[in-house]
Amino acid sequence: MFRNNDRNNREVADALFVRCAGHKKEDDMSSRTRHFLNKADDYTPTTSYAVDYFTLNKDILDNVYHSLEKQKCTQTGIEGGLYVGTCGNAYTLYHLSKKKRFAKERDELLRVATDVMRTAVDIARRNKSRDPSDECGFLLGKAGIYALAAAVFHANGEEMMAQDCIKDFICAGSHCAPSSYARFGGDELFVGRAGYICGSLWLNREFKSQVVPEDVIHTMCDKILQSGRNYSRSKNFYCPLVYSYYKTEYIGAAHGLSSILQMLLCCDSYLEKNKLAEVEIKKTVDYLLTLQTAGGNFPCDFGEIGTEATVVRDELVHWCHGAPGVFYLLLKAFYRWHESKYLVAATRAADLMWEKGLLKKGPGICHGVAGNGYPFLLMFKMNKDPKYHYRANEFAKFLYTEDFKKSRVPDAPHSLYEGYAGTMCFLADVMEPETAAFPFFEIN
Ligand SMILES: [Zn+2]
Repeated sequence: MFRNNDRNNREVADALFVRCAGHKKEDDMSSRTRHFLNKADDYTPTTSYAVDYFTLNKDILDNVYHSLEKQKCTQTGIEGGLYVGTCGNAYTLYHLSKKKRFAKERDELLRVATDVMRTAVDIARRNKSRDPSDECGFLLGKAGIYALAAAVFHANGEEMMAQDCIKDFICAGSHCAPSSYARFGGDELFVGRAGYICGSLWLNREFKSQVVPEDVIHTMCDKILQSGRNYSRSKNFYCPLVYSYYKTEYIGAAHGLSSILQMLLCCDSYLEKNKLAEVEIKKTVDYLLTLQTAGGNFPCDFGEIGTEATVVRDELVHWCHGAPGVFYLLLKAFYRWHESKYLVAATRAADLMWEKGLLKKGPGICHGVAGNGYPFLLMFKMNKDPKYHYRANEFAKFLYTEDFKKSRVPDAPHSLYEGYAGTMCFLADVMEPETAAFPFFEIN
């Protein structure tokens, strides 16, 4: 964060892809061993299971404070934004503070989160960047810091501070509203307009009121639609909306089409006023459905469509790249349009995660075990089928096995998206699935 030229942006994008997907050469060589064998039996009507509340409760509390200690709230510490910076740790404290099981700890969790965010906001305001993506980025920029700070201050009863942060968040959006923003690809989730919508919807949900005005969100939707149409036409794609990020047309949640469409589909008032846009979004989602592989996965990017590489990348089962991230779009499409094909595709994705989701890349929510356990919790919330809660609980249990000790240590092992901070959100959600939500990725 706080980079100041496009070359550095490009380096960050490349580094993120390598962190998420692994080096290309490594991919080709190790695709068969990307995940641990899932040795657990799948759920049957006679299966009985129990969540180990005592262990999880203790481990979560020990771990969130330990992770925060490792990621101090300094200027360097807040670099990486919500994704791998200190503010992501404050998010975990906030996530836990909303849980019934941590009601006794709520005040202390919020007090610590507020301390972190007070410092982070102060640093963010003092260090203006010449790179607009530093200002308006949600997962990797200051907009995410302002959004989280607003929610944390609000929960802690500091309303004036909260309102100031909402103003900062709205102001940050002015950087990505112009069509000229981020020629390298300004529509995706990490630093682009979809991320800004993600933050806006999250803020409105947390405040239970329209704190980010409708016209701000609608402007972003208009720009995203226009950008996707233009790019698709320029490349003669059959699919009406296509986006590129550093010359790659990603499909997964990180930088890709699925999370962009997901955010548009979550903007109910926009869709009500823009029926044509909804038709284009639906056509694009239906095109994505045709890309689901026999195994239930999705290609990493448009360059892999119809090539042998799809078979190799069938093993890339990550939230960031693959079915675990596209899953949220599929479920959202089912909620919106009530057509069973979306639920069928989501169920196939969830079955793939059960088979290949115990990743060797670590515990995190971006490309780790917890991220692949989250879709089970969403399925359980929707249909109350105990199979999915059982599966999520098995993924939680796997984090305590000898096999898991052989997994890799992530680049940012204490962070929200790659490390234990996000994993603790997952474990807390396994204990209380009725309020489970992948951080910032709620779909209803
Ligand atoms: Zn990742």
